[in-house]
Amino acid sequence: MHYTGQVYRPPVEAYTPMLEITIGCSHNKCAFCTMYRQTPFRVSPLKDVENDLRELKGYYGPDIKRLYLLNGDPFVLSTEKLLEIADLVHKYFPKVETLSCYASINEIRNRSVDELKTLRAAGYNDLYFGLETAYDPALAIMNKGFTTAEEYENLKKIQDAGMTYRALLMPGVAGRGNGEINALETAKLLNTYKPNMVLIFTTSIAPGSDLAKIRDEGGFVEATEREILEEIKLLLKALDMDDDCFFFGSHPFDLVPVSGYFRDKEQIIQQLDDGMKKLHPKILDGVYKRGAI
Ligand code: SF4
Repeated sequence: MHYTGQVYRPPVEAYTPMLEITIGCSHNKCAFCTMYRQTPFRVSPLKDVENDLRELKGYYGPDIKRLYLLNGDPFVLSTEKLLEIADLVHKYFPKVETLSCYASINEIRNRSVDELKTLRAAGYNDLYFGLETAYDPALAIMNKGFTTAEEYENLKKIQDAGMTYRALLMPGVAGRGNGEINALETAKLLNTYKPNMVLIFTTSIAPGSDLAKIRDEGGFVEATEREILEEIKLLLKALDMDDDCFFFGSHPFDLVPVSGYFRDKEQIIQQLDDGMKKLHPKILDGVYKRGAI
């Protein structure tokens, strides 16, 4: 199999077969992210993709229903190329229904709803959008390359195309004192265009990242653990998700790990409260060192 350089996938896809179609991330500029800094972006040659499909078939058999496509933002490929890959996948795995991958708002901007519908029909679905927040000042500092207005505009296209999506969020991303507005603005976006899963990864300042430099120069102050946990609780309270929408809050960066379906939202909030009570005030009022993703 071709798994080149750093390979990342959402934790909830741990058991999904992975197929590399791109290497690195085409954006590679988010201030907090050092994931692919050592891996220049390139597109996997189709012959490598086909060899990997053959190998996957030998391992899993022909009946798998879901594939996870690597790496940081494979949806950057042209619609034509994505359709070519979907055809190749179906040649080896005719029962595949879902081709999931990371995607960016930047990659929806230039696509029409009709193009997205074609991609949906080819299997592309359950796209993971690293939205992080719907609070504009935080999006700008993090250098995501899109605005809140563009999040609304492009998630509407995803919805109109009949695609499902999963929202990746970063509590603490708006910095100290901004947890409340971050939670409320982000909940407003997700309540408008509902994902089928919400995943949180508490903000971490990786050594050597652009965000570390911004912090050192005084442009970003990390929220305390207490503020971040209060932000997560407020986000949960403000979110009006379907009962079967899953909340994943158990990344190693999440100080009080909690996950569950939104139908059990009150229990999840209670678990957060209970977890906070077990933490020493010095930890809650400090900033926990998390390292790099
Ligand atoms: S967060 Fe995602 S889009 Fe941003 S640089 Fe990292 S891999 Fe690329």
